[in-house]
Amino acid sequence: MDVYGLLGNPVEHSLSPPLHERAYELCGLDARYVTFEVAHGQLEAAVEGARALGINGLNVTIPFKRDVCAFVDLDPLAERIGSVNTIDLNANVGYNTDAIGAVRALSAHGVDLDGTAVVVGAGGAGRAIAFGLADEGMRVRIANRTTERATNLAGAVPGADGHGLDALPELLEDASVLVNATSVGMDEDATPVPQGALTSDLAVLDAVYSPIQTRLLTEAAAVGAQTVDGAWMLLYQGCAAFEQWTGNDAPVDAMNEALREQL
Ligand code: NAP
Repeated sequence: MDVYGLLGNPVEHSLSPPLHERAYELCGLDARYVTFEVAHGQLEAAVEGARALGINGLNVTIPFKRDVCAFVDLDPLAERIGSVNTIDLNANVGYNTDAIGAVRALSAHGVDLDGTAVVVGAGGAGRAIAFGLADEGMRVRIANRTTERATNLAGAVPGADGHGLDALPELLEDASVLVNATSVGMDEDATPVPQGALTSDLAVLDAVYSPIQTRLLTEAAAVGAQTVDGAWMLLYQGCAAFEQWTGNDAPVDAMNEALREQL
């Protein structure tokens, strides 16, 4: 039997086990997906332990996505982003599938990735999404509460520029894609983007998936914008991890069903 797992802290509310186990079932794979809560300071021991036990692959979540880079070889995209959320333990390589998750979430909804994207947030998700959209050829404009973090990230992403949140109305005038990559809206009725800055020309992806219908998505839909919820990004980052680990095409519809049954 193959074993995959998730390292994080906390992990008890993870939506990943049913997502992956539905795919194993559909593809006839003898495999299990297990969550491991790792104590702070025990990350290296956890990765070593997983390797020693013959575990095939790991997802990595908060707060370990950056620190785990020290313990595996890095795929070039993960190296540029500076964080890893998927490890192939057989090959000892770390990948970042959050970037491809956001790109596939948008393209699966028919969104053209050839104009200007405004990414709100410059933390882990913001970094991954900014690189992912720039690699697709989009002009990426980053707005963050801490302006310096936005300008630092913009310095690393080809063609990008960085701003404070107050620039959002101006940035959105010419944008075709808006992504919320902050934690604003998670388990709260709040949004980082003033409703008056939203237009019907936008496709809006919210990385937040709890709640699934965030205030940003509600306000975007109200002005006629296209909306894509954060579960689509979560789905496609999981599909990319599954494909990396098993070499099988992900059964996307079945994995989506397994995910949405939990929401
Ligand atoms: P992170 O590294 O801690 O970054 C948090 C970001 O949110 C920073 O840009 C931070 O700005 C901003 N922020 C926090 N509180 C704020 C506030 N009150 N007002 C304005 N900005 C605020 O977290 P992360 O890992 O990037 O995750 C961000 C969100 O994305 C979370 O909700 C997470 O669940 C979600 N996510 C979803 C997926 C998916 O597959 N759907 C994948 C990854 C993450 P400062 O820099 O100023 O602190």
